[in-house]
Parts: sequence; structure tokens; C-alpha cells
Amino acid sequence: MSDRKPVLEIEDLSVAYQTANGLVNAVNDVNLKVYPEEIVGLVGESGSGKSTMAYAIMRLLKGDAFVTKGHIKVMGEDLYALSPKELRKFRWNKISMVFQSAMSALNPVMTVQTQIVDTLTSHRPEMSKAEAIKRAGELLDVVRIDRKHLNSYPHELSGGMRQRVVIAIAIALSPGFVIMDEPTTALDVVVQRSILDQIREIQQVEKFAVLFISHDFSLVAELASQVAIMYAGRIVELTKSGTLRLGERHHPYTEGLLRAIPHLTADEVVIEGIPGTPPNLVNLPSGCAFYPRCPLATDECRKARPNLYQTDNAIIECHLFKGDREVQHV
Ligand code: SF4
Repeated sequence: MSDRKPVLEIEDLSVAYQTANGLVNAVNDVNLKVYPEEIVGLVGESGSGKSTMAYAIMRLLKGDAFVTKGHIKVMGEDLYALSPKELRKFRWNKISMVFQSAMSALNPVMTVQTQIVDTLTSHRPEMSKAEAIKRAGELLDVVRIDRKHLNSYPHELSGGMRQRVVIAIAIALSPGFVIMDEPTTALDVVVQRSILDQIREIQQVEKFAVLFISHDFSLVAELASQVAIMYAGRIVELTKSGTLRLGERHHPYTEGLLRAIPHLTADEVVIEGIPGTPPNLVNLPSGCAFYPRCPLATDECRKARPNLYQTDNAIIECHLFKGDREVQHV
């Protein structure tokens, strides 16, 4: 942790979707801080609320999704208090996002150069076209794509190159904070590895903070200094990534995720899944949301939502940690 001012400060955030079956409570009472130059991971199964949280932070919630309570500050600025004009200036200059699918993030009928130049000139109107073209070339150097691809269309690039272009666009205006939402999910393992190495390199040079979202625990643990584990729209643990292994003190859900990482025994690859399915977000269990799947659940877990407890390496929402110091939020 740091005594510097956080670049991201989420306070008691809840986000819901209006559906025909009722309100889906996708994000519930989330608190989280990310400090300058820090990489924080956000992990959870599909539907745990990770991407909804990312879209809420960017103020990009669409359709029937809306913030029901809480505050989000980016670099001290309440994003939801900004006018559309102010928000447009704020996005990409101060905060940007790398989306899951590069193909849908890029415009298929525009060249790489046009897309980068458009981003630069629309978010920084004082920049001339010549300056923007020069910067587009520099950005391709940063993400190690040959400048000849400035004139390529997205379909002429490999999946890895497209994702690099998306990263180039996200860092084009040197934002202080970048959200990366499963940036390598669609790529094969080798390309995934090289993109991850590159993200780390660029982040160290450009010095932005990152919220790195993934369902892949090992990936996040490698990149981030801290990892938030999300279950049923709640952050149930915030932990130092160096202690993310079995044998350390973790939330039972975190332990389940750690066991679910494929591991080798003498002659086979073993994957232990977490039994059961995530809860219905229209109707969350009254106590701990994980209790129907938790091997250590007690009657108390069914009745009362646990408080948060500070251990040596983590903050954990679980009744099992009652002997540790209680804290108000992560
Ligand atoms: Fe399991 Fe109870 Fe802890 Fe929830 S509070 S994770 S059910 S032990």
C-alpha cells in the first residue's frame, strides 16, 4: 500500500441490471483502491461482476445497467459528476481501457493509422494531424509492430498484433490509469505470454497504474502486486499476489480457485473444479454468498454475511477469520 493518493477509489459501489426476472445485482458494495504505478489484479469466475465493474469505472454501462449506489473517483475526480464534454476529455487522457476482443474494439474499415490518429485528435483537439501521425508511428514502435502496418486494416493483422494495436490506442494519450479487461483471453498461450511481457515493459516505462481483469489466476498473480478476488459481485479477498498459493491463509473461494489451476502429478494433469455454480444474482443468499459451495460452511455462514478481517497478507470476508483484526473495507 502507499500513502500517495489513489488513482482509482471505489467506495461502496453497487451496480444492477434491470431484467424481466428482476434486478440482477452484478456488483455489490465494492470498495477498492489502486495507487499510482500499481498493477492490481481482479479475478473471478465468469459472471462474478468483473467486467461490469470495469464498465462502471469507465462510465460505459449500457442499456439496463446502472449504478445503484456508491462513488467512483479517478485521480480524485468523480466520473459521474462530469458533464458529457468533461467526460470525453477525461477518458483516454486520464483513464483508458483495453477491451476483451481486439476485433470488436477496432473499426474493420479503418487503417491502424486512422484509428490511432482519430483517438488522438478527438480527445486532444489541439493536436495537429501531423503530430498525431508522428505519435501513431511512435506508438507502433512501443508495442513492437512494424510501422508499415500503419496502413494495414485490422483483418490484415494477426490476433496478437490487433491486441497490440488496441494497447497502443489505450496508452496513446499517456493516461495515468488503464483498465485491461481480459486482454489476452482470445490469444494462444505463446502470444499471450509475449503480450503480457510487453504490458509489463510498457507499464514500467510509461508508469501508468493498471486494473488487470482476468479469470486466469496464474496470469494475474504473475503481473499484479495485489489481487482482488470477486465472487457474486463482492470482493471477498484482497491479497498480496506473492502469497497466492495453497498453504497460505486465504478465503475458501480463493483456495478453490487455486486448486482449479491445472497441476501435474506423476503422469496426469489434474484440474479440481469448485463444486456447484455461482449464485443467482437476482436473489443472493442471505449470509455468505459462497456458503452453498463452501466445504467449510457453518450455520452462521447461511444466516449472516461475514465481516472483513485483516490477516498478515490479505483482507478477507469470511467468518473463519474472526480471530483476526476486523476492518471496515478493503
Ligand atoms: Fe465458507 Fe462461511 Fe467463510 Fe463463507 S463465511 S467462505 S461459507 S466459511
